[in-house]
Amino acid sequence: MEKSEDLYNVLSLGDMPPEEFRKYGYQLIDWITEYLRNSEKHPVLSNIKPGDIKSKIQSNPPLKPELFSEVLSDIDKIIMPGMTHWNHPNFMAYFNSTASAPGILAELLSGALNINGMLWKSSPASTELEQAMINWLRQILNLPEIFWGIIYDTASVSSMHAIAAARENVNIKTREKGLAGRKDTPRLKLYCSEQAHSSIDKSALTLGIGLEGIRKIPVDKDFKMIPGKLAEAIAEDKQNGWLPFCVVATIGTTSTTSIDPVREIAEICEKEKIWLHVDSAHAGITAMLPEMKNYFDGIKHADSYVVNPHKWMFIPIDLSVLFTKHPDILKRAFSLVTEYLKTNEDSTVENYMDYGIQLGRRFRSLKLWFVIRYFGVEGIQNILREHLRLGKLFARWIEEHTEFDKMAPTPFSTVCFRANPGNLDEKKLDELNEKLINKINETGKLFITHTKLNNKFVMRLVVSGIRTKEVHVKNAWDLIQKLYLEIK
Ligand code: PLP
Repeated sequence: MEKSEDLYNVLSLGDMPPEEFRKYGYQLIDWITEYLRNSEKHPVLSNIKPGDIKSKIQSNPPLKPELFSEVLSDIDKIIMPGMTHWNHPNFMAYFNSTASAPGILAELLSGALNINGMLWKSSPASTELEQAMINWLRQILNLPEIFWGIIYDTASVSSMHAIAAARENVNIKTREKGLAGRKDTPRLKLYCSEQAHSSIDKSALTLGIGLEGIRKIPVDKDFKMIPGKLAEAIAEDKQNGWLPFCVVATIGTTSTTSIDPVREIAEICEKEKIWLHVDSAHAGITAMLPEMKNYFDGIKHADSYVVNPHKWMFIPIDLSVLFTKHPDILKRAFSLVTEYLKTNEDSTVENYMDYGIQLGRRFRSLKLWFVIRYFGVEGIQNILREHLRLGKLFARWIEEHTEFDKMAPTPFSTVCFRANPGNLDEKKLDELNEKLINKINETGKLFITHTKLNNKFVMRLVVSGIRTKEVHVKNAWDLIQKLYLEIK
């Protein structure tokens, strides 16, 4: 039984007393320890119906204090049944984001310290640890020293800032005049491949480029942007009065992890004086492996580059890093210093608020610091190598099976595949594979997602979770084959 003095006294006006915090803090750490130890025991995908969780939460907020023990016990009763477990070893959907224990501890500390790193002065340690972590990450990923970096929440936001910098780079006074209703400047055009992530389209929506301002460049049979088509598109658009201002290349596209030919694209960008942004949100972390060097060689030619430690570096969501050779241009796009934000140190320090739309900033760099120090670069490299091995292993099983097809190359650890008994037309094949993936996910034993390639329904299996071992990939393959035999 909880003691009655644990019930908050509304007249006391203060926070939870330290001893009570310690008691519930330990309870919560114990809960997390068991959750991580037993992450496999939960169904990876919740089978609740929309509205089930909401219906269990009282619709009016409590006017009187509740025992905190009751709040904690509701995690099991209300929250856990509605969880899709991203930390589960059988979560092989989307691009994974798994939380490692040191990353979780960093989140806890970040919440406790509760700083706002908008200015150097508002939290010197946050600003300087961020600078130090950017420097570490730059070295780990083998990026040239010229790259400056900043932490944002997600790759969507990193790319949006990169594209805003590209817009600033063409000097059409967007900052002062905006874009709408202007007759003194041509409309801006942004280029990316047909396989680029939707966050690039959303950047265009946000930045006044509009969907008409995006040109999707065709891809080859391996889903890589065709540089010749890019050059043609730019020439045609210029002739029609557009102002090409930015190309986004991807290393590790979302559907297939295809790799755009960055070096050739960079040559076109250099000739045309167009900003090159490279999106390597998921796969970019593998640049820390010397054997993957070839995939990332072109990055040195980019103007900006995004990579997400929260996707494949075992850092709890969210943490994305934007690198750019032109922090001055990014700053020109976003810096706006009002009187109440001026400090004596402004001329000698970096104030991260100058490089983006958000003012308030969390202490995210703690997560990089804890995770990199706990595992060491070599520890992270070993896990990545194992994931790449397991991805290739699964790809081989698919290739060797006469009734499954691999639908794209596997440069990393994402495998695109479909069942194909050999006697069905494309429509029936789509139906069969859709039925199969639904069956797989309904079991709660494995979670994978799908995409469409050349208009064909394709399943994707991604190995990038920190708890995923060979046994899980083997069990996944056994389950897929068993369910296929049941429905074929
Ligand atoms: N870019 C690529 C290539 C992605 O695959 C994704 C998400 O999977 C994103 C960007 C968006 O990432 P975020 O959720 O961090 O915005």
